[in-house]
Amino acid sequence: MYDVVIIGGGPAGQSAALFTSKGQLKTLLLDNEKGLTQRALIRNHYGADDVPGGELVAVGRKQAEKFGTEFNKANVTNVIKKDEGFTIETEEGDTYEGKQIILATGANSKLAETIGLNTKPSSEPYVKHVVDVDAAGRTNIEGIWAAGTAAGVSVHTIITSGDGAKVAVNLLSDLKGERYVDHDAL
Ligand SMILES: Cc1cc2nc3c(=O)[nH]c(=O)nc-3n(C[C@H](O)[C@H](O)[C@H](O)COP(=O)(O)OP(=O)(O)OC[C@H]3O[C@@H](n4cnc5c(N)ncnc54)[C@H](O)[C@@H]3O)c2cc1C
Repeated sequence: MYDVVIIGGGPAGQSAALFTSKGQLKTLLLDNEKGLTQRALIRNHYGADDVPGGELVAVGRKQAEKFGTEFNKANVTNVIKKDEGFTIETEEGDTYEGKQIILATGANSKLAETIGLNTKPSSEPYVKHVVDVDAAGRTNIEGIWAAGTAAGVSVHTIITSGDGAKVAVNLLSDLKGERYVDHDAL
């Protein structure tokens, strides 16, 4: 069983994966590879100058993989709560087990609604409904978190990736029982 299964491999999901895997949580990221960031030219992401969206996501994946995140291509169709953790079902017919889930599925709220997560109308352009989360990123189902566009933050890569990191730090803090900090020094 994975400690964390992250659904959605855009900036929010990958950034969350970087933190959870670097924080020693066994992390799996499932993505259906239909992300639209591939079509973007990012000129407003602090520290990354005029970077194609595909390049940002490719570097993000390498960073998370370096710390042990496993990536699988899969279209997730449901997440079912068990006595311990969750079973993740996919269109491909595979299932995965995870103790914690981070939903980072972008603008499409269909999966969230199938799972039974509370959603609400979005205030962001291009996004109809988002998951109703608390300030930490927790949803109405204990053990399921949401991050990035799926959780209603502003649709910019610096913000969605930051939100993925925020949710991962909150999840790590909950599991470790104290505020988690990930700092490296020269
Ligand atoms: C053409 C274009 C130009 C843009 N330009 C800019 C810009 O200049 N600057 C800027 O800051 N932002 C820009 N953006 C917006 C930016 O791409 C998004 O804000 C950001 O990518 C959202 O990150 P996210 O991780 O929340 O969601 P996404 O990047 O949408 O990632 C969600 C991921 O989840 C996957 N997924 C969804 N459902 C499932 C499922 N059921 N199972 C498995 N995987 C699933 C999707 O395929 C996708 O890979 C642009 C977007 C577009 C489309």
